Order: sequence, then C-alpha cells, then structure tokens
Amino acid sequence: MRDQLYINGQWVSPDLGNYLDVIDPSNGQRFTRVAAATEEDVDHAVRAARRAFDGDWGHSSGAERAVWLERLADALEQRQDELAVLEVRDNGKPLPEAQWDVADAIGCFRYYAGLARELDPRQDSPLELPDPRFRCRIRHEPVGVAGQIIPWNYPLLMAAWKVAPALAAGATCVLKPSELTPLSALELAACAEQIGLPPGVLNVLSGLGSEAGAPLAQHPQVDKLAFTGSVPTGSRIMSAAAQDIKNVSLELGGKSPFIVFADSDIDAAVEWILFGIFWNQGQVCSATSRLLVEDSLADTLLERLVSEARRITIGNGLQPGVLLGPLVSAGQHAKVLDFIREGRQHAQLLTGGHRPRDLPQGYFLEPTIFLDPPLDSRLWREEIFGPVLCVRRFKREEEAVRLANDSPFGLAAAVMSKDPQRAARVANQLRAGILWINCSQPTFTQAPWGGMKQSGIGRELGRWGLENYLEVKQVTEYLSDEPWGWYLKP
Ligand code: NAD
Repeated sequence: MRDQLYINGQWVSPDLGNYLDVIDPSNGQRFTRVAAATEEDVDHAVRAARRAFDGDWGHSSGAERAVWLERLADALEQRQDELAVLEVRDNGKPLPEAQWDVADAIGCFRYYAGLARELDPRQDSPLELPDPRFRCRIRHEPVGVAGQIIPWNYPLLMAAWKVAPALAAGATCVLKPSELTPLSALELAACAEQIGLPPGVLNVLSGLGSEAGAPLAQHPQVDKLAFTGSVPTGSRIMSAAAQDIKNVSLELGGKSPFIVFADSDIDAAVEWILFGIFWNQGQVCSATSRLLVEDSLADTLLERLVSEARRITIGNGLQPGVLLGPLVSAGQHAKVLDFIREGRQHAQLLTGGHRPRDLPQGYFLEPTIFLDPPLDSRLWREEIFGPVLCVRRFKREEEAVRLANDSPFGLAAAVMSKDPQRAARVANQLRAGILWINCSQPTFTQAPWGGMKQSGIGRELGRWGLENYLEVKQVTEYLSDEPWGWYLKP
C-alpha cells in the first residue's frame, strides 16, 4: 500500500501532509490511507509533465512509445491477480468482474501500443490541394500535458482508457483517481516506476476533487483535460477549461433505456436486462436502468425478472459465487436509498429496496425493481448509479422510441427483438453514442465510447481515443517560382 504521490518518477509525500482513509466497502472499515494532494503538489506534477513533454517524450516516435506501452502492459500482467483483489477491496465489485477489468486494462495498453506504431507512417501524409502551386502534408502531434480525472466505478480500467491513448499519442499525463478508489492507479504508477518510464511522463496524484482535481483543471500549463465522472463535476471542468481554452473531453452520466419487444426470447431478455443493471452493482455509466417492455410481454417478463433478481447472491466480492457486492461508499449507499425512499411514494416496488438482513455491515443493497415510475419523477429521469431498475410498458414502436429519447442523457441504449429490421430501425432512431442490439453492456477497446447530450463530449477508445490526444497540423508549402503578385505587382 502506498501513501505517497508519484511525481516526476519519484514517490513524494504530500505538500501539506494530508492523508485520506481508504475504506473497504464490504465492512465499512478503514484498511489503509493514501496521500491527499493539494495545489502545490498539482503544480509540481504538471511542471514535471511539462518538462517531460518538452523533452524527449514529446519528440519520441510512435514505435518508441509502443515499446513503453507494452512494457506497462507486461508489468500489469505480472501483478494481475493482486491488482484484481486490490480493486475488490477498494471498490467492492465481485472478483470475477475485477479480473475482467484488469484484463481489459492490460488489453487497452496493448491495443494503444499498436496504434502508436501505426502513427509513424501516418506522419506527413500528403494532402491533395486544388492548386498545384502548393504542397500540403498533414502531421499528427501530441496535445501536450493531459490532466486526467477519473471516477470510482472502474478504477484501473478508467485509468487505462485515459493513460494508454495519451501516452500512445506522445502526451504526458497527470492522473487523478477518485478519492474513493485510488489504489490501483497508484499501482499503475508503481508499474511505470518498475519499467523505468521516463520521469514526468506519468504522474499520479491521489486526493480530493476540490483540493487536487480543481487545481489540475485550472492549471495554466495543462493543455488537455480528459474527465470521466458526473454531470455537475463535468460542467465545472468545462468551465475551468473555458478560462484559457483548454482542449476538453467529457465522459459523463447516463440513464440508458433498454427496449424489449414482445418477440424477444425471454431467457435472453432476462439475462441481458439483469446484466445491464446489476453488473458492478449498477454503478455503470451505461447501465440500462430504464426498461421499456412491450405490453403483451410485460407480465411474464416481470415475473421472471423479479424471481431471478431475488436469487442473485449478495456479499463480499472476494467470496466465490457472489454476483452483487457492496456499493462503493456510505455516501453512495445513502444516495441510492434516498432514491428508493422517494420512489416508493410514486412507483410500485416489485422487489428489493433494502439492505439485506444478513449483511448488517458494509454498503450492501438488494437488487431493486420499480414499476411505472412517473415520467417526470427523479426515479425515471435521474442517474441513480445503483442496482435499481425502473420499468414501464409501451404499446407501439414509436412510443418506445419517444420514451427512450425523452432524457437529458444520451450515452447508451439497447434494443431487443427477433426482427432484425425493426431492431436496426429503432437503434438508428435512438439518440445515444452506444447502441446494443440483443445485448447490453459489452464493451470493446476497438469501438468508440461516449455520449450525446449531457452524457458528454468526444469519444474514448478505438482510434477516436487516440485522436483525443492529438493535434492535427497542416504544413503547406508554396512550390512555384512565380511571384504571388498580390501586393508586389510583377
Ligand atoms: P464525480 O464527478 O463525483 O467525480 C469524478 C472525479 O472528479 C473524481 O476523481 C473526483 O475527485 C473529481 N472531482 C470532483 N470534484 C471536482 C472538481 N471540482 N474539480 C475537479 N475534479 C473534481 O463522479 P463519481 O461519483 O466519481 O463517478 C460517477 C459518475 O461518473 C457517474 O455520473 C457516472 O455515470 C460517470 N461515469 C461516466 C463514464 C462514461 O464513460 N461516460 C464512465 C464511468 C463513470
């Protein structure tokens, strides 16, 4: 366990000597502490990242950076099991989910190593111009120093989604993990140290949003802000970026719909609906938390859903067979219970809604399903970020599309039907960045990730993730011996 900050390739104590307790969400007990960075630490980290960028790293080739990314992936891989257990203790998620996350994070570093290599032949690509007296070439140059702020629901994976493409592009990073789940990001820093990544290329600062995140967002030497988190914080980050016109990308919240037509296979529907809302305790930005079921299927589907939800094993994520761990924190537990308390007044509670009786410690909550929340209720419209599914019925396809699109968010959406044309037609009409047909949540490093409306700006993952950290430069050259002849007449 590390209670220092990783700045300029070294572990250093926090400037003000502040520390934060790290709580195990399965029992509510403190199990370690981390350093709490403040403004001075942020300044040191940003300056280190600046020096690294202005030095060799910013001028390195994609092929050179690919080697570093592969070494980072190897270092993570060597500690794969240990990292998964750490993630469970920090976040609460069941171990198989944490193992999946760690493997995905490693895969993300390897994937961007490949894209880093592909960058070199893309440099100086010629662009045909309509005027033969000119020659133009296009360069892709790294954006500079990236300030990266991430949430607590996928601690290592969100770090990988940010750091891997930034390093591949040739940017340098100052990463601030969530104060609730800082441990795996600090281990990523330890991997960087182990492989001898040049000082300043990756800096990791644990700390509070207000004390470390805000000064990072405001720092004048940060060129790019990449943020994943809630809409209110995203709005603050965007305001900070606006002060000196920083490049900014935002991955924010969601309240994603899942439309299930009556011709769907019922087992497949139940499986994907449960996966879409109870995976990671429902603390998933793309969770399909609004279920729209065609009327004629609704009674049968709901009966199955309720009985399967009641069979989900809840407990400490390290215990074999557990499918639902605790929520991440006391605050998140209280927030979700508050939604449930309010929801009971307006909607029918079909199952759940309580802390399980046999788990008096920790932040556990039963899988919860509400029927018919009013369209203007907080339950239906706001992101709950917990294991709470809200269900409404629909009669016609257009009604389903209208209800699904009636949201301030537009991150993801899912459609299930045995009619491929209908599924494709509906998918094309939904205003969201990620559409799943006959499934919910599968995420691939190769495919673009991000949302419309208040769900954010820009796309991560795939080649789009790399573009986030690249500036496009045109170099246009006048080739002709003829004078231009505008002011100086021949
Ligand atoms: P949050 O906004 O509370 O915090 C996110 C990060 O921002 C944390 O590191 C926090 O310390 C930092 N922060 C807080 N205040 C700050 C400030 N004033 N200035 C700078 N940084 C600050 O979000 P959270 O509760 O950690 O995460 C949950 C949210 O993240 C949900 O809304 C979820 O939908 C969203 N999320 C989105 C995606 C996506 O890809 N779209 C992925 C995961 C999570």
